[in-house]
Amino acid sequence: MTTKDERIDTWLRDAHAMEKQAEQMLTAQASRIENYPDLKARIEEHLNETKRQAEQVERCLEARGASRSSLKDAGGKMTAMFQGIGGAMTGDEVIKGVMASYAFEHMEVAAYKILVAAAEAEGDRETARVCGEICREEEAMAAWLADHFSAITKAHLSRAEAGASEAKR
Ligand code: MG
Ligand code: FE
Repeated sequence: MTTKDERIDTWLRDAHAMEKQAEQMLTAQASRIENYPDLKARIEEHLNETKRQAEQVERCLEARGASRSSLKDAGGKMTAMFQGIGGAMTGDEVIKGVMASYAFEHMEVAAYKILVAAAEAEGDRETARVCGEICREEEAMAAWLADHFSAITKAHLSRAEAGASEAKR
């Protein structure tokens, strides 16, 4: 049998690992983007949120009396999609990057909604509150990306058509 308590602790550790992966991905993306300043700025903003989220999740684990020593964060291997490798090869890395980010934000939204439900079921109101708050930051990032797909895509296409090497990133 697995208690609610054990399950929630595990899911919080998974969320922590997810944030560490997000941190790597956003750091790499922000450092590579050169010609899409609004996107770069928003990614940097979310990178700061992401670092804080990892700390918030750690504090939830602490408050629950769960050991933090078991936080593995083995620098989770990112898939080719999340590394944007395909994009770097084909000259559309900024586009592959926003696609991957949008997908990643939705995975985060799902993880935190599930954690909110689980924490509510257990009566851990603080964890539910914190996870709900983090979830709204992920939703805001996803919404920003969705609002900017059109402008980023159009800028990318016209630069690429003009043969500009800055279209890529
Ligand atoms: Mg996050
Ligand atoms: Fe996020």
